[in-house]
Amino acid sequence: MLRKIYILFGPPGSGKGTQAQFLVKKFGLPDVSPGELLRHEETMQTRIGKKIAKTMKAGKLAGDGLVKKVLLKRLKMADAQNGFILDGYPRDRAQLKFLSKKIIKKTDQLYFIEITADSRTIRQRLSYRRVCPHDGATYHLLNKKPKRAGKCDLCGTKLIRREDDYPQAIARRLRDYKTSVKDLLVYAKKTKRLIKLDGTAPLTRTRRELSKRLKELN
Ligand code: AMP
Repeated sequence: MLRKIYILFGPPGSGKGTQAQFLVKKFGLPDVSPGELLRHEETMQTRIGKKIAKTMKAGKLAGDGLVKKVLLKRLKMADAQNGFILDGYPRDRAQLKFLSKKIIKKTDQLYFIEITADSRTIRQRLSYRRVCPHDGATYHLLNKKPKRAGKCDLCGTKLIRREDDYPQAIARRLRDYKTSVKDLLVYAKKTKRLIKLDGTAPLTRTRRELSKRLKELN
């Protein structure tokens, strides 16, 4: 079966999640985000969730074994059989190897989407970001305020600031990203299926650009 796989990458706060939601609506494929999957495990207080809580709070990468486990479980679900949007994977060389050797098949149609953003914008976005622990919806205290202060528009749950959205963890996540993206970029460039997007441009413009570039690659 021909699967379409969209691999989104960019520093934390560059807008991967927002672009992922756009692709979900456009193509009807699921957003597969290890970060979201792990946060869900944490909320549900599962064995994996308890194991991972401290690591995530510090903004450190989770162990490969755990990530593989939640990822493979998600990819086996029925809605991911025609393709998926991968948001936040791979994040190091071992994960890239796993992706290219064990997940991607020859018949898959790949799209690599790199979203760029400068450090200042990222820090500003992340420190004002609030998220719903129930459904993952994200808000920004200045630019995308919830309708009722501190409450999720979709389900009314009290919004939280992610533990890794504090300065020390942000700095670590940015450093890790800079190191980890190098191999992925080399790999993506070789496929000639890389789209680069400016994550600081107005959303309507990045969406238009993304749609146009995706069409060109079809
Ligand atoms: P994110 O929502 O993508 O910012 O990820 C939040 C946190 O989940 C990260 O700081 C890591 O602790 C963990 N995480 C997400 N994706 C990965 C991954 N591919 N490998 C290891 N840890 C991950």
